[in-house]
This record gives sequence, structure tokens and C-alpha cells, in this order.
Amino acid sequence: HPRQPLQPNTPQSCLGIMGGGQLGRMFAHAAQSLGYRVAVLEPEAGCPAAQVAEHHVCAGYEDPDGLAALSALSRYVTTEFENVPADSLKALSARGFVAPAGDCVSIAQDRLVEKHFFTRCGAHTGVYPAPHWGIADQKDVAGASETLFPGILKTVRMGYDGKGQVRVRDREELAAAFAAMRGQVCVLEKMLPLAYEVSVLTARGVDGAAVVYPIAENVHRDGILFTTLVPSPHVSPDVAEKAQKAALDIISELGYVGVLCIEFFVLQDGSLVVNEMAPRPHNSGHYTIDACVTSQFEQQVRTLAQLPLGDVRQHSPAAMLNLLGDVWFEPGSEIAREPAWDKVLALPGANLHLYGKAEARRARKMGHITFVAATLAEAQLALAQACDILG
Ligand code: ADP
Ligand code: MG
Repeated sequence: HPRQPLQPNTPQSCLGIMGGGQLGRMFAHAAQSLGYRVAVLEPEAGCPAAQVAEHHVCAGYEDPDGLAALSALSRYVTTEFENVPADSLKALSARGFVAPAGDCVSIAQDRLVEKHFFTRCGAHTGVYPAPHWGIADQKDVAGASETLFPGILKTVRMGYDGKGQVRVRDREELAAAFAAMRGQVCVLEKMLPLAYEVSVLTARGVDGAAVVYPIAENVHRDGILFTTLVPSPHVSPDVAEKAQKAALDIISELGYVGVLCIEFFVLQDGSLVVNEMAPRPHNSGHYTIDACVTSQFEQQVRTLAQLPLGDVRQHSPAAMLNLLGDVWFEPGSEIAREPAWDKVLALPGANLHLYGKAEARRARKMGHITFVAATLAEAQLALAQACDILG
């Protein structure tokens, strides 16, 4: 295995990535800015990352020829999505350096395995997941404790942006919801009284050095991230420090190499609960591009190339607004329009990022805007004005 840094600007200086969405595109931007070339493996022609990468291996994520072609282009490969097949990462790591490792990614692919891991870490971190119960068959439905209702039933695999989740008030609703999952293994979680949702972005190198970014506060709409504010306006310094320390404990316990984002709930009584982790840069970390010395994508490049980690210092308060396909339609209608970018870009501190997706669909992530300012209040004001403009 290559166990040396991959220096930029050499004939071999190409980094590989599994997946061609917006996270892969922003990884490519960061890699290229450091003097690397980029190879993307992704079945969809013209995908966001392939538009900017030097090489596009247009193949399925499990295609042996495609994986061999990616390895031939680069022996340093990362991923932009957690559902990358574990066997593919194994095949790539037989031919090169893969970060994060398949073992770490597979923990994040299964909510039950992930919760079990978080529970084990709780001894060090003092932070635990929500009370939960695995549901693989009707016996498990009958065996669920009354204390888990009302709850949320989630498929253990492949859920994202609130998909694969159903709220259940009682056992009867649970039985119906589980039946509708058509045999997929699920987890029932107790519905918790959330005050805020936060996330902590952390990165770790092959040498074991780790960094942690400031805590970010996230607001979701219809299960999809809507805004991220950093610094978090509501979370106390105590809770922030506890979450950051838990994130550092978790990343080192995993022996993880790369960028990892951990989502937490802050409950109404001020306590902290760990929700889930993403083994890659995260939507709630997009603000780091415009507001931190080193972005989460550059950090991904540095960990993959085995270079020193970058400075995580935030130089400006930031308010990030996701741009979903909905803003490409006249409000309350199916009439397509181009959003008024001239007006948005006239707002103070606006940094517009569009992902190059050809077709705007409702609920599809098309881009984001990060507003930076001297104070968070000013950045939030500009964000509110953008919402008015975009409708
Ligand atoms: P996804 O993979 O879709 O992001 P999450 O587990 O993060 O799945 O759940 C999506 C959202 O649903 C969370 O951001 C939170 O708002 C809400 N949610 C999830 N689990 C709970 C819970 N146990 N109690 C209360 N709200 C929850
Ligand atoms: Mg989530």
C-alpha cells in the first residue's frame, strides 16, 4: 500500500473518488486548487463531479473493470457517499490507499451497528444514542418496550434526508409501518423532545492527529437540511465542548482517516444525544469553504494524500442556506423559472455555490449560499433577505 504522502504536482498526483455528486465536485475543486488531478467513478454521465474532474470512469459502483480503471488512475481513493459498497472499497484497498476504510464506512451504513458503536463509546464520551430497539420481524414488534412510544421507525440501511422513516404513536401503528417496509430491517427510536440539532465536523490523519471544527446548529425542513448557523446561537459552551470532545473520542476510537461528521440532538433539558455519523464531508460543513481557514473538502484532500491537517479556525460567522430545486419554480406553481441570482449576489457577504445539476426537481439539492459577516446576526439578516428574494 502506498504509505507516503502523495505530493501535489507530480505526474502521479491524481486523487480518486467514489461517487459523482456535489460532494465529489467540491472535493475536486479543493484537490485541483492544491495541484492534484481528480478521477471520479460514477455511473451517471455529466454528473456534478465529472463536469470538473480530469477523469471520469463512467461505471457502476460495483463494476470490477470500473474499479480497476479507477485504481489505475489513482492509488489514493476516497468516497463522497456512505452507501458505497463495502466490497468495492475492499477491492480498491487491495490496490492502494483508501480513506476512510471500508470497516468504518460499513458502521455508518447500518443504523443499528452505528448505535451499538456509539453506546460502546458512551463509556468515554458520556454521550449516548436515543433509546432504541431493532426490528427484524413481527416478534420484535411485539417485544418493543412501551417506553419507546411515541417513536420513529427507521430502516437501518439506505435512509437519508428523512427518507425511510415513519412516526408511530403506538404498537398498532408500528406493526403497520413495519409491514410497509416490506421486510427491511428497521430500528425503532424513542421520539425525543429536541431543542436544537447540531453537528460536529472532525478530521483525522494517518498519523492519528485529529482536528475538530466549531459546533454547527442545523435547522431541517421536511427532513432536509435547510440552514446551518456557526457559531451556534443556542448551544451553551459546555454542551459545545462536550460534543466536540465526544466527536474526537469517536473518530479516534474508530481509528478513522478522513473527514467525519457527527449529528447530535440537544434536548429541552439541555442534555446531548448522539444521532448519526457521515463518513465524509457533510452538508452542515459547507460553511467551512467560505468561513474557515481550511474547508472540509481540503481537509478530505489532505487526509487522503497523507499531508498535514489544515487549520480549522473560523474567521467569520456564517449562515448557510441550502438551495433546493423548489426555488427553480414560481412559488406555489409548476411554472419553471431561474432564481434571481443578481439580487441574491447583491446581498452582503453572499457566496453562491451551484452544483451544475441539469434538472431542478423539488427537494433536490441544487446548491447553497453561505453568508459571512462580522456578526452572526448580520449573516442571518442577509440569509433572511435571500429567502424573501427566492420565495
Ligand atoms: P437521516 O439519515 O434521514 O438524516 P436522521 O436519523 O438524522 O435521518 O433523522 C432525520 C431527522 O428526524 C432528524 O434530523 C431529526 O429532526 C428527526 N429525528 C430523528 N430521530 C429522532 C428522534 N429519536 N427524536 C426526535 N426527532 C428525531
Ligand atoms: Mg441525519
